[in-house]
Amino acid sequence: MNDHPELAAAADAALAYLRELPARRVAPDADALAAMDAYSPMLPDQGCAPEDAVRELAALAGPATVATAGPRFFGYVTGGAVPATVGANWLAAAWDQAAADYRLSPAAVRLEQVTGAWLLDLLRLPQDCAVNYVTGTTMASFVGLAAARSEICDRQGWDVAALGLAGAPPIRIVAGADAHPTLFKALSMLGLGSRSAILVDVDDQGRMLADALPELGPDTIVCVQAGNVNSGGFDPLEAICAKACAAGAWVHVNGAFGLVAAASPAHATQLAGHDLADSWAVDGHKWLNTPYDCGVAICRHPKALRRAFGYQAAYLEDDLRNPRHQIPELSRRARSFEMWAALRSLGREGVRDIVERNCAQARTMASGLQALGLRILNDVVLNQVIATTGSADRDRAIAADVTASGVAWFSTTNWRRNTAIRFSFSSWATRDEDIDLTLGAIAVALERTAETFA
Ligand SMILES: *Cc1c(COP(=O)(O)O)cnc(C)c1O
Repeated sequence: MNDHPELAAAADAALAYLRELPARRVAPDADALAAMDAYSPMLPDQGCAPEDAVRELAALAGPATVATAGPRFFGYVTGGAVPATVGANWLAAAWDQAAADYRLSPAAVRLEQVTGAWLLDLLRLPQDCAVNYVTGTTMASFVGLAAARSEICDRQGWDVAALGLAGAPPIRIVAGADAHPTLFKALSMLGLGSRSAILVDVDDQGRMLADALPELGPDTIVCVQAGNVNSGGFDPLEAICAKACAAGAWVHVNGAFGLVAAASPAHATQLAGHDLADSWAVDGHKWLNTPYDCGVAICRHPKALRRAFGYQAAYLEDDLRNPRHQIPELSRRARSFEMWAALRSLGREGVRDIVERNCAQARTMASGLQALGLRILNDVVLNQVIATTGSADRDRAIAADVTASGVAWFSTTNWRRNTAIRFSFSSWATRDEDIDLTLGAIAVALERTAETFA
């Protein structure tokens, strides 16, 4: 009996995709992109059988996907999706739960609480912090900074949620000169201004210099970074948090991927002092290898969160523990099912293993690149490698050549005013042999470009 042919069709297509994933091209080829022209721009008047819709989706969109879930995508920091999370995602879709409030989805909200406690344990953060799910680190930073804004204004007797920013007490923002651009986007969305931050000098790894901090006070939000998106370097959290605590300033940590280093005793030392901050942003969809999208907003001050995001509606229950009082959204998908499946299937040891394997792979890649004659531009302290052939154009040509080959995918970046190629290791699916395959493709690209850049 098959009473849900569309699910059978989806399972068949997904299984075929996942089976082929380690061997398939990473970037789609031109044919796959051109085939999507078969998608009609006209809204169909008539519907079709659900299984036909699923099959059409799989046939045209599947080949045009980028294999970010596979083992050789090293661009950005994407992670993959550990198998249990894909299963959880299917269930979550079948259940179609809205994680707005306990009465609407006791299961989703309960698992937010369970995984929240697990995450605090894994990330070595105080157990009494509030943990909330949002789309990603951009929004998790928005949430942390909104709580900070609320707290600073409240201390001056100003209800910023009700009165707005016009006439509000001044708020000083301090950030590293190499802070991730999404931090400035969050500041801009909050009306705090993307260019209002006092930028602190950084060292050659993009880490804030604690000695270069300006005067801090109770009106200050210090935005620090655990895991520079290029170098993987950590701001000196302990020194900065100590100064901020003494001054009564709020510390927000952008730890999109780097905070997950806490799961590895060998790497957690780089994070020392991170638990003294006030708010943290981390992604599930990066190093924790849940499917997109999943960001986690963690905050030590639940009252500040509720001041920023709490609201009443006559038709909604007034339970202040409901997630909707601590984040921007009301309706949203139940990300806690996937996070639960990730942490349940991996356990503490499984997460540690991914972190340590990826960091070792970064070191292997760095020595392999050196053996091919490239120069490594960062201290490979985590999962990031930045390298150059010495020529910006050749670096770009190598990245384009390997992407076109389909073997692997990595990007170029701008590091200390130089173009360089950049690798991120954050996927559970990356095997050590994938480093060899990628180095092989780079060797071919170096040969192909040798004459042009002689
Ligand atoms: C990925 C990333 C972000 C943005 O996170 P999203 O989940 O894409 O919103 C911010 N900061 C750092 C360091 C990142 O790696």
